[in-house]
Amino acid sequence: MQRVYLDNAATTPMHEEVIAAMADCMRSTYGNPSSTHVFGREAKAQMELSRKKIADLLHVHPSEIVFTSCGTESNNFIIRSSVEHLGVERIITSTLEHKCVQETVHEMETHHNIEVLRVKLDSWGTVDYADLEEKLKASPKKTLVTLMHANNEIGNLLDVKKVRALCDEVGAYFHTDTVQTLGHYPLDLHDLGVDFASCSAHKLHGPKGIGFAFVKKSIHFKPQITGGGQERNLRSGTENVYGVVGMAKAFEMALQDLDQHRQHIEGLKTYAIERLRTEIPGIEFNGHSADLEKSLYTVLSLRLPFNNPLIGFELELKGIAVSQGSACSSGAAKVSAVIQSILTPEQIEKSTPLRISFSCYNTKEDIDALVSVLKQVAEKHMVTA
Ligand code: PLP
Repeated sequence: MQRVYLDNAATTPMHEEVIAAMADCMRSTYGNPSSTHVFGREAKAQMELSRKKIADLLHVHPSEIVFTSCGTESNNFIIRSSVEHLGVERIITSTLEHKCVQETVHEMETHHNIEVLRVKLDSWGTVDYADLEEKLKASPKKTLVTLMHANNEIGNLLDVKKVRALCDEVGAYFHTDTVQTLGHYPLDLHDLGVDFASCSAHKLHGPKGIGFAFVKKSIHFKPQITGGGQERNLRSGTENVYGVVGMAKAFEMALQDLDQHRQHIEGLKTYAIERLRTEIPGIEFNGHSADLEKSLYTVLSLRLPFNNPLIGFELELKGIAVSQGSACSSGAAKVSAVIQSILTPEQIEKSTPLRISFSCYNTKEDIDALVSVLKQVAEKHMVTA
């Protein structure tokens, strides 16, 4: 059976060149970067070269890149440190954020007495910028705004510069979760003006278990993980040298081939939208997902015009891997918080949401296979309904 992987927002296959760069490093560089002898210095050199490479690609200073284990840790580090070390008393966020932001913010609210406000969204999941402005101006408390650059489920893009300008009016800190956009857009983090951003290498054909937090140079954090004082005493623990080397290679490749890959993936997304609209009457797209200007080009979030919580199984049996929101223990999927925050209960009851997410490795044949299986499932459902 042909297997089709269309879940690239969950994780991406590693590029062969990334694997090769990591394998080379594993063979040649086994020193501990904190050791002062030549083995350690070699490892340290590999790490610092990689840091410089990544920093240059994002137009920031190498000291602004703090290596972490993943996007989740980066977001935790930024939010927790803002409260603990910058005196943030209030957080403005949204119900669209990734769980690692929502849960961390919730913990700040319940255990650190932080006031938390959530911005209004319209039925497309667009942030209400006027509401954000109103909330920002309603209190003199030191505030952190944490709003993601692109949503991992419905793909909506945030107007980062607009949010920065609003934050500047009241002197608020601004964190944007860039896990789904770094390596997919040619981002200049200084030009965007964010104070904090986050990255996870496995979303851009790099290895799992490595990411970084961008922390603007003028901001002084203390470590959340204490110990040997690595990462300029911002994150202790022996560094994942191979992961760092792989992440730098993945970044280099992502930006080098960005235009070509983007064009290819946008072509696939447009093709998928057209074919799905033709073959499955009544299909709808969530948020701004079907609008290439307003959404992540790698993500297409749709809802089928019938309710079938077991659709993930049916697709899986036919070799198609997509995402269905959060899986619960029975294996059936429950509707995610993001979908719940933009659809009405009636819309949810009558539909089945699915997220398809593409990478440069997908082909039109993958889309044809997906559409053909979805069409069979839809027809079967129409007959039995
Ligand atoms: N933020 C967003 C927007 C994501 O999509 C993800 C992963 O799905 C994360 C954070 C967490 O990243 P990681 O898997 O590296 O912990």
